[in-house]
Amino acid sequence: MSVDNIAAISTALSASGVAVIRISGETPLSIAEKIFTPVGKTGVADFEPYKMYVGEIHADGFNDFGMCVYFKAPKSFTGEDVVEFHCHGGLAITKGILKKILSLGARLATNGEFTKRAFMNGKLSLSSAEGLIDMINSESESGVKAGYYLYREKLTEEINSLQDMITDVLAQIDADMDFPEEDLEETSTKAVKSTLETVIERVDALLKTYRTGRTLKNGVRVGIVGKPNTGKSSLLNALLDYDKAIVSDIAGTTRDIVEGSIDIDGVRFNFFDTAGIRDSEDKVEELGVVLSKKVLDESDLILFVLDGSDITADDEQIYSLVKDKNLLVAVNKTDKCSIKDERADIYISALKKDNLEKLKSLIYDKTIGQGVDLNGDFLCEERHYAALLKAKEKLAAALNGIGLVSLDILAIDIKDGWDALGEISGRTATEDIINNIFAKFCVGK
Ligand code: GDP
Repeated sequence: MSVDNIAAISTALSASGVAVIRISGETPLSIAEKIFTPVGKTGVADFEPYKMYVGEIHADGFNDFGMCVYFKAPKSFTGEDVVEFHCHGGLAITKGILKKILSLGARLATNGEFTKRAFMNGKLSLSSAEGLIDMINSESESGVKAGYYLYREKLTEEINSLQDMITDVLAQIDADMDFPEEDLEETSTKAVKSTLETVIERVDALLKTYRTGRTLKNGVRVGIVGKPNTGKSSLLNALLDYDKAIVSDIAGTTRDIVEGSIDIDGVRFNFFDTAGIRDSEDKVEELGVVLSKKVLDESDLILFVLDGSDITADDEQIYSLVKDKNLLVAVNKTDKCSIKDERADIYISALKKDNLEKLKSLIYDKTIGQGVDLNGDFLCEERHYAALLKAKEKLAAALNGIGLVSLDILAIDIKDGWDALGEISGRTATEDIINNIFAKFCVGK
């Protein structure tokens, strides 16, 4: 079956030093022959794979001077023949070259089509492809690490190993089914039980890493709350080091939830600055108050800001709303007062940027926690978590059914567990799941 040539600009669509345009399929080299004139003696048809050649790239109305490299199937990203052009990274340059390539019979790749082909050709698993997209989309070191764990097939290896154990169990049951008693032999019972227990334990170990992994991937949500004028916007600005929130003396000017993100020790922290929580006639502000409550419910940490020069009953009221949350209480404006408050975890001045480094490290400790090894392996994809939960449920049902249900029923539960695990690596994933995953990619990947 012939595989059509697909092409796309693989780098970001903006002015840049260099850009990469990629063609993958049956005959990318024959397209390259028509648009690339190498400087040296070797013609395109005789290009040695994996070697960069310098030359002229011809678009329709202009030429660029760049490089061309040929990756020979199956040793390429997609597993097909691939040609890459490295041209200058101007928008008109890349679009012009791509247009030329398309006019020579290649088709514009759909979202994630290169990676989908790589998956279909067995170059990577489904979870590896997901790790790749996580890495590309990540804005923090910890997000990159979580993606890399998937991308390098570490999770797939564990899943494959668990599936192999389950396959052995199924074989054992199958063998025993040939006996008339319709029950497991005593020795098989022991072996099947112990293997299922081990698999469930290992599934549990993976599940346990999800909370942290998800946080590392998506970032930590920190809601900044407090009555108006305590300095929440100022603090957010100071943390972000630029003026995102509007700072004002008039109570209640921060009406929308303002979001900003910073990196603390490689982890992304997303801050939400909310309107002061208090009763108000102001409808817009009322909305702000509603949003504040949403922030209260959805934050990993609440940063409650008090104005040290103006602690009142309103603060007490807000405190009663937040005291049971994961809470950090900061007393602000230490530059103009030195009041002590028994609720305080830290004293700061947003205006003078006093004690903000200490505040950042407290925020880290209260969410990620001390001593968490960010180089560890973490589950970060909800899809994987859901599949593992399903697998655990099926395998636990089988374990509990040993001796009580017939062997074929037992085998069905165990096979369902095997299938659920296979969804992660893609061995048993449906077309819908696969298409959904690749749709999240950009065109050039
Ligand atoms: P918000 O309503 O809680 O967001 O408060 P703002 O950030 O708008 O600050 C209210 C007022 O307090 C502004 O005039 C700020 O300049 C002032 N302010 C904020 N932080 C400090 C601080 O650390 N020290 C002093 N002296 N004033 C501050």
